[in-house]
Amino acid sequence: AKNAGRNRFSYFTPALQVAAINRMRMTNDLRSALKGGQFRVYFQPIVHLRTGKIHKAEALIRWEHPQRGLVSPLEFIPLAESSGLIIEIGEWVFMESARWASRWRRDHHPEFQVSVNQSPLEFQREGKGYEGWLAHLRELGLSGQAVVVEITEGLLLDASSGVTDKLLQLRDAGIQVALDDFGTGYSSLSYLKKFDIDYLKIDRSFTRNLAPESSDMALSEAIIVMAHKLGLRVIAEGVETHEQRDLLLAAGCDYGQGYLFARPVPAAQFDAMLMAQTRA
Ligand code: C2E
Ligand code: CA
Ligand code: CA
Ligand code: CA
Repeated sequence: AKNAGRNRFSYFTPALQVAAINRMRMTNDLRSALKGGQFRVYFQPIVHLRTGKIHKAEALIRWEHPQRGLVSPLEFIPLAESSGLIIEIGEWVFMESARWASRWRRDHHPEFQVSVNQSPLEFQREGKGYEGWLAHLRELGLSGQAVVVEITEGLLLDASSGVTDKLLQLRDAGIQVALDDFGTGYSSLSYLKKFDIDYLKIDRSFTRNLAPESSDMALSEAIIVMAHKLGLRVIAEGVETHEQRDLLLAAGCDYGQGYLFARPVPAAQFDAMLMAQTRA
């Protein structure tokens, strides 16, 4: 009878319920991670392809979990979104990024830019614009140009006035906008003209298959030509080989980002990379 009872218990504890409990636990973990300073911002160089110089960096969050070690954002960003914690996390990433941007503009290049990712949820949040960011930039003595906001294509499809307002607000502040993961969604080229976008980031799935005469090569070339005609600059993501770099350069791509140049690294290490470049 005892055994049957135990079996019945497991029968009434479906996987979904276990998943829900795990989610709750992870959400609490996320909240204490934010309070306990367990998040880190890593930076990955964005390289000007023609000169090979680092012109920009993308800020990428990491979670240094006390038990699990480094946790990928792919694992916790979705949870941060569904729990609403993404707002606070995003604010924190922005503050850190602006602080480093200020230093790198001062010590390395006056036009250095740091880009930060904004989930649709962050970008579309009601009732709160970028006033806080602007105040923070002012405190640091930074112009809006020091920061680039990376958003995804899907946002532009939902051409609600909220999205348009946020984009206008960014433009007024001089903050540039990059369209992330370009080519993976319902890419409609018309919105590139309709909205004020500054950078196109060609998704890694295109870069991966670059080869002379390949269809991804043809697509990348077409994207670059079109982007340039519209006054946008192009950043290729996921550049891992010299061949990819050379093909992109030949196709007129402006910037590259990927393991060929460097993986995302802690800020101090990124600072050292810039130092080496500035001294060279
Ligand atoms: P993403 O914005 O597309 O960022 C690029 C991802 O590609 C990063 O993964 C980066 O480490 C990885 N990557 C860079 N170069 C290469 C390469 O040559 N090969 C390969 N295979 N991968 C490369 P990561 O850091 O794991 O971030 C994953 C995603 O998490 C990001 O994709 C972004 O959507 C999200 N994310 C990261 N940080 C933040 C954040 O602060 N806020 C928000 N909202 N999302 C973030
Ligand atoms: Ca990004
Ligand atoms: Ca602009
Ligand atoms: Ca991307």
